[in-house]
Amino acid sequence: MPEQVLIIGSGIGGLSAGIILAQLQIPVTVVEKNQQPGGLMRSYRRSGIDCPVGVHYLGALDQGQLLRQLWDALGVTPLIPLERMGAEGIIDRYIFDDFEFNLPAGIDAFEENLRRTFPEEQLQITMIMADLRGISRSLSAFEIFLSPALSVFSPERFESMGERLFHLGCSPRLTAVLGVPATLIGIPLQKCPVYYYYMTLASYLLSSWRLVGSGTVMAEAFVSQLRSLGGNILAGDGVAAIQVEAGCVKGAVLSSGRTLPADVVIAAVHPETVVSLLPRAVVRPSYRERVAQLENTKGLLGVNAAVPADSHRALPYNVYRLFTEADGSLNRGIFHQLRESGQPGMNLLSTITSSDIEEWRPWEKTTSGKRGSEYEAAKQERARPLLDEAAKLFGLREMNVLDVYSPLTIRDGVSSPGGSAYGIMRTTKQLFKAASLNRSPVKGLSLAGQNRLASGIMGTILGSFQAVRQVIGHEKFMREVVGRLL
Ligand SMILES: Cc1cc2nc3c(=O)[nH]c(=O)nc-3n(C[C@H](O)[C@H](O)[C@H](O)COP(=O)(O)OP(=O)(O)OC[C@H]3O[C@@H](n4cnc5c(N)ncnc54)[C@H](O)[C@@H]3O)c2cc1C
Repeated sequence: MPEQVLIIGSGIGGLSAGIILAQLQIPVTVVEKNQQPGGLMRSYRRSGIDCPVGVHYLGALDQGQLLRQLWDALGVTPLIPLERMGAEGIIDRYIFDDFEFNLPAGIDAFEENLRRTFPEEQLQITMIMADLRGISRSLSAFEIFLSPALSVFSPERFESMGERLFHLGCSPRLTAVLGVPATLIGIPLQKCPVYYYYMTLASYLLSSWRLVGSGTVMAEAFVSQLRSLGGNILAGDGVAAIQVEAGCVKGAVLSSGRTLPADVVIAAVHPETVVSLLPRAVVRPSYRERVAQLENTKGLLGVNAAVPADSHRALPYNVYRLFTEADGSLNRGIFHQLRESGQPGMNLLSTITSSDIEEWRPWEKTTSGKRGSEYEAAKQERARPLLDEAAKLFGLREMNVLDVYSPLTIRDGVSSPGGSAYGIMRTTKQLFKAASLNRSPVKGLSLAGQNRLASGIMGTILGSFQAVRQVIGHEKFMREVVGRLL
């Protein structure tokens, strides 16, 4: 068993891995470069309002569902206040140029709505629902996801959802509706593996939730749980290098120059960061190349704005404004969430769309807070169409823009290459290459975080369980981690 584990990064991936190890009484220290732990899960404050970054809504958190089981195992469920979405029968409202579709709560309600909206495509819907139901059943059986073989990820499941819909002969409209969930993991439908697609959709249909408090409350829940189990968190001092001797990790050197010995290092950061922290000689050129060549998901442009609550009520569902090509493929989407802000009289509008790092090249060499007035003007200019769209959709007359963030904000905030929101893009083509990175170039080093297995809160935590399995060995993992949960 490891004597001292060092975890790089205190996002939900690093903190979850730390909690599982601390539960096993393995000494663990999580190192975070930022002053505050929590990574993308932590919100930030503007004008007294907590603005979300990486947690807008969550699926599968009802009793017995997968994310709930994982949170229960980590001991964080009672610490994170949640509200169930769908109070008005809708989780997401999809608005296209010439029609709308409401994603309801529940798989049966989803089927009914599809059948009503697309009466000509009953056969296609029957096939799609059979796949969706099969995969949704596995979302209540977390032991599947914790097995070493991960049989659910077998190659025949790696057809893309775009291909699947094409072969089923779905109309452009049905394709457009079914394309939206792929945006939640940043993968175009044409390249999105069927399994990841259905897992994402099913998790939200099973039950959708949002935080009652802020992302900071959620981050603090993970932090306090880790500390209560004896785990250490060192914030405000990032890892500058991973030390390796005779092919085994020996610890890390922090930016302050401090060294921390460890016989196991879990890197809950992007693999590009991991490679940059390792001595050049220990990383095989083929591993380095694979990391450099893998395509990452795009960055995001986000706006948080306060709106008066008396004229604009909070909505218990999200609204997506979607723009499609003639064949139904999505060419642009804008996500809106209008919710209570925690400040009396004010609601919070969060609006997000994808944004390529190329748009931000002029400021590539700058760092957060020091990018100058032209960058500020560029952010405002790019935020304007999102706000105009929101004003039209919600009839907003007044709003106070609290903040605009760009892919550069995310890049500098959590060291995500090019400001990628969801890390490596797990397309059908890249799946095996991405998975092969988990065979670490150095003994004692494991990857965790959203790049280990899947992105999103659920995917990232599942990846942390897999990282712990690699560290403590399969038998002990089954006995002392999975055994305790069953
Ligand atoms: C705008 C946005 C909205 C999202 N919305 C949702 C949502 O609604 N629901 C959902 O399920 N998912 C959502 N996601 C995805 C989800 O937030 C992520 O998949 C998840 O939080 C990733 O966690 P992580 O631990 O892998 O990474 P991170 O949270 O990025 O954590 C990595 C941590 O490592 C630290 N770090 C980096 N380098 C070093 C170093 N050298 N030394 C020490 N520390 C280092 C970083 O500072 C950071 O704290 C969203 C993501 C974004 C960007």
